[in-house]
Amino acid sequence: MIQNIWAVGRNYAEHAKELGNEVPTEPMIFLKAGSSASIAASNIVMPAWMNEIHHEVELALRFDDNLQIAEACIALDLTDRAKQNELKSKGHPWTLAKSFKGSCPLSAFFPVNDLDELKNLEIILKINGDVRQKGNTSQMIFSLEKLLDFVRQHFPVVPGDLLLTGTPSGVGPFKKGDTLEAEIPGKMKQAWKVI
Ligand code: MG
Repeated sequence: MIQNIWAVGRNYAEHAKELGNEVPTEPMIFLKAGSSASIAASNIVMPAWMNEIHHEVELALRFDDNLQIAEACIALDLTDRAKQNELKSKGHPWTLAKSFKGSCPLSAFFPVNDLDELKNLEIILKINGDVRQKGNTSQMIFSLEKLLDFVRQHFPVVPGDLLLTGTPSGVGPFKKGDTLEAEIPGKMKQAWKVI
């Protein structure tokens, strides 16, 4: 059972720009409920009250019993962008836009021996076979070490928690009937049907 999902916003400059946001000077962290995660499921269930969701493909790290990183996976930080923009404009929290039911589909986990193995990886998201997001973890604004230090220092991180490390540019909507495929070549691949 995952208790907490610590997620960083705006960790790739091109993505911050595409949403009209400033590049941050310290990590901007928000929380998704641990219970919003599903691991290696074959479907994404579109909530009944939504017509479209935006995809954000991300590298996710899992904290082990010593709060070190021994495993990683691909995560989709699903976002109700219209709701997020409305909440942002009112200065309200993002919870409804970011932490709804089923908002954090995950791939299976792969082993990590050293964080350096994760610093030059392609990360790709396709919808119905078309590439929508393609980035490289070398483009992150804050390093994995910096994010981990920041999160461990400020938050009550517990074993099994995840750290979502931000999304590259190319975010956009998908809808019922689409097939999403996320890949970190050489490490992991996962597909979901949206129902
Ligand atoms: Mg994100």
